[in-house]
Amino acid sequence: MSGAVVWREVVAAVILCDGQVMLCQRAEDVPYPLQWEFPGGKVEEGESHEQALQRELSEELGLTHVRVGRRLWSSEALYPDGKGFRLHFYAVEDYSGIPTARSGIAALRWVKPEELLQYEVLEGDREFCIVLPWLLHPERVDADEVFMRVALLEAQRAAAEGEVPVGAVLVRSGEIVARGRNAVERGADATLHAELIAIRQASAKLGRRLLECTLYVTLEPCPMCAGAIVWSRIPRLVFAASDPRAGACGTLYNIVQDERLNHRCQVRSGVLAEESAALLRSFFQRLRADESGMEA
Ligand SMILES: [Zn+2]
Repeated sequence: MSGAVVWREVVAAVILCDGQVMLCQRAEDVPYPLQWEFPGGKVEEGESHEQALQRELSEELGLTHVRVGRRLWSSEALYPDGKGFRLHFYAVEDYSGIPTARSGIAALRWVKPEELLQYEVLEGDREFCIVLPWLLHPERVDADEVFMRVALLEAQRAAAEGEVPVGAVLVRSGEIVARGRNAVERGADATLHAELIAIRQASAKLGRRLLECTLYVTLEPCPMCAGAIVWSRIPRLVFAASDPRAGACGTLYNIVQDERLNHRCQVRSGVLAEESAALLRSFFQRLRADESGMEA
């Protein structure tokens, strides 16, 4: 599925000042004019990330003297038109002057990191908006909620693709190593559950034993996925909503903590459960409305 994607490297600047970060909004004549994003842009051929960021900030914001600091986060975004972006977010530690928008930028705004979720941002920046408050102040934030929110983002993408909205991410040492979303309909394959997709992706990178990983899922895993969690030796599972119809991690069965099996997993449930349940409810309501519309 991802074979045909041409990935473009994109760098974004996290300009921090007085505890606030800068967002920009593109002008009318460029794509996505109504959404906020972090300043930055595509890496040109032969450029380093640092050079690209310095060039973009000079062209976009008139910042001629910036010092690019450490890389804060990298993620991938696949747009519905098939374009893939690899996004790298860098801290900009030092800059001279007050940023002023140049051509192509309609507006600039300083916002508190914890308020980023209230902004309509580009698809590729959404994950970073979720993790940034945790990257800056890990002691103030519940890491399980942060990664569950990333899993919910995957679930929302599944819903947009006509799939039952379930998302999963696998995290090791604070880094997302794999992600998945339900793809049963698109793949015409009953085993394409979010968890299995994430586990296969992680195993391709890390091998068949996913020790030291935490799996975040927006819905309690079914018997098939609970089995896969046991076989891949995942030590910790966090899920959002319980599943009274198929839940195999405490509701109908408890496969991941069955003493008779040779591996057991620590479980935390109920993290952002209401948000996950609301997403599932609205998906099925829409589905029923569409079906009754078709019958009429
Ligand atoms: Zn499953």
